[in-house]
Amino acid sequence: MSEYKYATLAVHAGQQPDPQTGAVNVPVYLTSTFELTGVGTDKGWDYSRAGNPTRARLEEALTALEGGTCGHAFSSGMAAITALVSPLHAGDHLICSQNVYGGTARLLDRVIQHFGIEIEYVDLTDLDLLKKSIKANTKLVHVETPTNPLMQLTDIAAVAEVVHKAGVEVSVDNTFMSPALQSPIALGADIVMHSTTKFLNGHSDGLGGALIGTKPEHKDRFLLMQKAMGGILSPFECFLVLRGIKTLPLRMKQHEENGRAVAAFLAKHAKVQKIFYPGLETHPQHELAKRQQKGFGSMMTLELGSREAVDRFLKSVKIFLNAESLGGVESLASHSATSTHAALTEEQRLKIGITQGLVRLSVGIEDKDDLIADLSQALDHV
Ligand SMILES: *Cc1c(COP(=O)(O)O)cnc(C)c1O
Repeated sequence: MSEYKYATLAVHAGQQPDPQTGAVNVPVYLTSTFELTGVGTDKGWDYSRAGNPTRARLEEALTALEGGTCGHAFSSGMAAITALVSPLHAGDHLICSQNVYGGTARLLDRVIQHFGIEIEYVDLTDLDLLKKSIKANTKLVHVETPTNPLMQLTDIAAVAEVVHKAGVEVSVDNTFMSPALQSPIALGADIVMHSTTKFLNGHSDGLGGALIGTKPEHKDRFLLMQKAMGGILSPFECFLVLRGIKTLPLRMKQHEENGRAVAAFLAKHAKVQKIFYPGLETHPQHELAKRQQKGFGSMMTLELGSREAVDRFLKSVKIFLNAESLGGVESLASHSATSTHAALTEEQRLKIGITQGLVRLSVGIEDKDDLIADLSQALDHV
């Protein structure tokens, strides 16, 4: 399969016809258990927490799309991050991007830290600081790029080079870009993490998460986490993600086209005080985005000046829905401070630049002229 180009992989990797019946679509194996062939012998399956044929197909597809050697599907992005950090032991040190998804920080600070794991948030754009932060007990450096909601980039290849010299692994949360627009493993990452809830599923109809590894020990490690912790993705939701993946390259093309058009419109609008979008030449890391990503995506964040301005904007949009999440076919807008970053205190939010005036857009695949007209009339109410 790996000899094929991306759009072919999206349709065919893990999606070969069912060997038993020839069914063109992957069957949904709604079974918790499997009949064994004897004592201690089976047809490759024994219990669906350990493995399910529908899940195995999705895991195969994800492995191919990210260019890894193993893939593991979890019940949500958070379940995937939990499985990523749970193999750490008390006394281990974990370095995390300073500006991560609020749920990641909540998990690390309010749960994982209790197990005696040392968590340190580091500005990964500062490679000297990163070098100084790596200690003898550092086991993992977790990168999120671009970050939510300020769209700050981390140079994955540069971070991997520094971190690998110290014998430490790098994981990358690739949710915002999707495998269509960014390939962390090709840039040197050891592990890729996804919330499949977003672009991979693409239709806002199911949560899911994934870890894609590059070493035989990753397979053993993440399989153990699936079996021991149990946060696996159900067969039906595996089917939904498989179905979503088939149109990922096509959807990402439209997301990209719409994202660029919307950003160009907003960048010139008087009511928009600031816009954070790596596709604009004014973005401080535009050159890195061009080098590291295969596109700029459709995620962007605006500064409207105050919580009241955001409230008026969100009450006025008609196509954009005031909802959390991202990466679906429909356009969404959300107030970062009270949604994705609600778990932080106001002081913590301000420290990482999340003001009350920020509104994040996930630009969908509707007609871009309609989207721009909608944003224009909503901004008139601000
Ligand atoms: C949504 C999201 C997550 C968490 O995923 P869930 O599927 O909601 O559990 C993690 N990281 C990023 C960047 C996300 O956008």
